[in-house]
Amino acid sequence: MINGEKNIDEPIRWGMVGGGRGSQIGYIHRSSALRDNNFKLVAGAFDINAERGKEFGVNIHVAEERCYPDYKTMFEKEEKLEDGIQAVSIATPNGTHYEICKAALHANLHVVCEKPLCFTTEEAKELEVLAKVKNRVVGITYGYSGHQMIEQGRQMIANGELGEIRIVNMQFAHGFHSEAVELDNPSTKWRVDPKIVGPSYVLGDLGTHPLYLSEVMLPHLNIKRLMCSRQSFVKSRAPLEDNAYTLMEYDNGAVGSVWSSAVNAGSMHGQKIRVIGSKASIEWWDEQPNQLRFEIQGKPVQILERGMDYLYPEALTDDRIGGGHPEGLFEAWSNLYTRFSFAMEDINHGSNLNNVWYPGIKAGVEGVRWVENCVRSADNGAVWVEYK
Ligand code: NAD
Repeated sequence: MINGEKNIDEPIRWGMVGGGRGSQIGYIHRSSALRDNNFKLVAGAFDINAERGKEFGVNIHVAEERCYPDYKTMFEKEEKLEDGIQAVSIATPNGTHYEICKAALHANLHVVCEKPLCFTTEEAKELEVLAKVKNRVVGITYGYSGHQMIEQGRQMIANGELGEIRIVNMQFAHGFHSEAVELDNPSTKWRVDPKIVGPSYVLGDLGTHPLYLSEVMLPHLNIKRLMCSRQSFVKSRAPLEDNAYTLMEYDNGAVGSVWSSAVNAGSMHGQKIRVIGSKASIEWWDEQPNQLRFEIQGKPVQILERGMDYLYPEALTDDRIGGGHPEGLFEAWSNLYTRFSFAMEDINHGSNLNNVWYPGIKAGVEGVRWVENCVRSADNGAVWVEYK
């Protein structure tokens, strides 16, 4: 059980780019990174507006002289300090991730980067090589993968409880953008601008999340080919889609699908993954993340609950409070940040003691690659394409 006692030698000195006042995702980065005392926030370039960023930084107790006007200044100045940052999180809009991540690696920093890592597989592979050369961690915040029941699903599949895997059904389909809300909301506006968001909207913003859950639960499944159809129900969003269906064939004969949507009117989040095997199925829904449905053919449905002794020990490692008390997205992200810190410490110490999985650079590359293949299929008339 995690209780906040030290589990790495020293908190990692950490900075942030973006995530300032009014941002959607900045607070969960900070509260997750700081929760288990594995990181210490000492610097930031929190905002595209330098003044507002500084004021914000000071308000969250970062020393004024370490609240920088932009990330370039931060990397340059921090590199010269004896106690300069060792890691940085990038929580800015999509179009900036590639250049900031590249600059951070050149400054020898470990990186936690928001998804998507970048826009093209060429860029993603370039970052992958750079991370290897520099021997730095690049973690990607596919935050839902930190939920305990995802680890439970991974263990159940690995231990053959489902039999041979046949079908993986995924969706992330919320209803918040059923209308053109971007007209009055700056945080949504960039999400439908191809210059800032890249070649897709919901495929990249939403579909890559359950896709990564499938990569965690089914690490040996490889996509062979896929077919994608995408729509812009709010016409002004074209060429970007606000709804998409992707069908996939895996190289072991299994099949999968991902429904990505921001126009599923009435739905809160609608992220689900159902893995169907020859003997049984499991299903996880992010609106009830403490439960995992386990359905054995011919038997009554079982609802497995977080924090209970019958779970695999690997899942219980992430426990923060006993079963019955709900845990949520903040705990899932904290689990990921703890994993990131273990990986960073291993590299800092030249050891490999912790050996934990985490969404790393490969997850970043795979997300970009999947979107690229989906767009290629959709824009050629929703045809089957070999997975490149
Ligand atoms: P947002 O528009 O709400 O906030 C962006 C923040 O970045 C603002 O504070 C802005 O001032 C700052 N910023 C922009 N450019 C900057 C720059 N060059 N230097 C410093 N600061 C800069 O965006 P958001 O919704 O918080 O999304 C940010 C990123 O997080 C996006 O890539 C998005 O896809 C991702 N995101 C991920 C999840 C997840 O579950 N992992 C959820 C939501 C958003």
